[in-house]
Amino acid sequence: MILIVDDKPENIFSLKTILEMHSFPTDTALSGEEALKKILRKSYALIILDVQMPGMDGFEVAETISGYSKARDIPILFLSAANTDKKFITKGYSSGGLDYITKPIDPDILLLKVKTFYRLYEQNRELNRIQASLRSEIEFRKKVEGELQERAGELHSILESIPQIAFTTSADGKIEFVNEQWLNYAPSKQSFPLTHPDDADLARQWERTVASGKALELEVRVRRVDAEDYRFHLLRAIPIKEGDTITKWVGTFTDIEDQKEAVRRKDEFISIASHELKTPLTTIKAYVQLLDRNIGAEDPTRMYVERTLVQVQKLDNLIVDLLDLSKIESGRLKFNKKPFSLEGVLADAVEMIRQTYPAYTIVRKGTADVELFGDETRIEQVIINYLTNAVKYSPDHKEVQIEAGVESDGQVCVRVKDYGIGIRKDHQSDIFGKFYRVEESANRFQGLGIGLYICAEIIRRHEGQYGVESEPGQGSTFYFTVPLKPYNLSNY
Ligand code: ADP
Repeated sequence: MILIVDDKPENIFSLKTILEMHSFPTDTALSGEEALKKILRKSYALIILDVQMPGMDGFEVAETISGYSKARDIPILFLSAANTDKKFITKGYSSGGLDYITKPIDPDILLLKVKTFYRLYEQNRELNRIQASLRSEIEFRKKVEGELQERAGELHSILESIPQIAFTTSADGKIEFVNEQWLNYAPSKQSFPLTHPDDADLARQWERTVASGKALELEVRVRRVDAEDYRFHLLRAIPIKEGDTITKWVGTFTDIEDQKEAVRRKDEFISIASHELKTPLTTIKAYVQLLDRNIGAEDPTRMYVERTLVQVQKLDNLIVDLLDLSKIESGRLKFNKKPFSLEGVLADAVEMIRQTYPAYTIVRKGTADVELFGDETRIEQVIINYLTNAVKYSPDHKEVQIEAGVESDGQVCVRVKDYGIGIRKDHQSDIFGKFYRVEESANRFQGLGIGLYICAEIIRRHEGQYGVESEPGQGSTFYFTVPLKPYNLSNY
């Protein structure tokens, strides 16, 4: 908007008409005082100011405007009666555009000057806008940087206060911060702790981790710079992200030597205990079986002998499972693989379960008249385990189905379905883990939680897959698949 200041309404009228004909919006003031009031309230792109006015003349108005911080940059076009006014024009007016035009006004010159000022005004406005946005961008960056530094500071003090060896790296994996513990294990702030010669090379492992962008969890033996012996540590590192972008990595090494030692001792104990229990139990079992065979059908103690045999068998199964567990732990679980008929194994397993649990109906479905390559006894062990669990965890529904078939992808699949207590979704991925038992049912049903762990290991070692589908209260279907043609016979 252009402000026209003149004490003569007819002058204002003619200027206003010329400007508005050329689409310049205008405002008017009939005196210097009125102009100053308006300038304080509104913002203008240009002021056209008559020099000779009663009261405040044009120069006084301009001088006053130069004292207003808000308005001092508004360009002024003086309307002067004679060229002699010219010398006063720059007086007291520090910045902003200044020009004059003499009366009588030539409309072409007026328009030329107004256009120039207007263009300047618009360019100025644009520059101001850019400047303001740059300023706010700088402010924002400063703020973010400050916050980041504050957060990094907090993180560093946390990492300093923990007993673990801790570090952070940049997004591309360069070490940025290490806590004090680090230097007890690493030769310098820039190099990783010293690892056992047989363990992964940490620098290389770190490169791979950073390239993958995925969290790392690794057991590795590291030693103090002043010690000889290595201790197991769990290295855990996670990427810190902003949105989808990794901004840094944070990692810790936690000493797990004591837990490792405890697990080693526990495994050793389980191994020794199950061996020691197995020998006398085998003798007891043999004697009870002998008794069972020789006792008369009518003998009143027959019932007790049969019950004893059932319990001895249960005990024997438990000990066999414990022995298998310790063999898995020590890598001694051996497989005697050769071709065998799956149908034969299924028939034997079903027959055994029918005899052991006469109250249950075991329904066979599908056929899998195929020859598999693997350890027959171990595969039978898996099937018996699935069937035993199906019976055990279905106290109120006495039907169990077993289905076998060859799938289109060349896998043989065995599925055992029961209508028992079922398993909640959040437990389903854990039940094949060592010693895992579903808490809600653990008191109701006896067990050690290792049967499925052994099954999983057996199936894995046959290049197969295993799993469960289940609904609480509706029942479960446990399945496993093994390839009809193993990929790599040389593994066997
Ligand atoms: P155990 O039966 O000795 O506890 P397993 O390793 O065979 O050990 O099974 C682990 C857990 O999985 C069991 O404790 C039980 O909670 C759950 N589970 C296994 N089979 C079934 C099933 N058929 N129905 C419901 N829960 C089952």
